[in-house]
Amino acid sequence: MGYNAYACVVVGLQLKERQLYHDVSRRGCDHRETSFAYCPGCGKATRETYSDPIEGYEPDDLRFKDFDAVMSGQESDTIYIGRELCRLGSRDDAQRVSWTPEDVAAELQCALRGTGLWAPEKFSVWVFLYESY
Ligand SMILES: [Zn+2]
Repeated sequence: MGYNAYACVVVGLQLKERQLYHDVSRRGCDHRETSFAYCPGCGKATRETYSDPIEGYEPDDLRFKDFDAVMSGQESDTIYIGRELCRLGSRDDAQRVSWTPEDVAAELQCALRGTGLWAPEKFSVWVFLYESY
């Protein structure tokens, strides 16, 4: 236990986590669907709207397709998707990576096709301090 802090670097896109969700309408129960707002059989709403992760986003694993999804802090819903370079102990050597930011930008643009989430001004090398207690 105790206090830990380390620098975290993400080459990727800055988003609000809610942008990685969309509303999906589903049946509220398993009874036959009627035109009523509520099911005559059980009283549940005929259709309910759920907020579902968009295709490729796995919040439990903090992954978006082949990319890391990194939260920057406990209270903000800012999330970064891209390549994460961190968790280095203070005496570890720096890592040399096999890709360039341009590679990541091109791959992310491809992975985000159709989502409307790609925004060049939100793509950068992001640096923040990760703290745990
Ligand atoms: Zn029902």
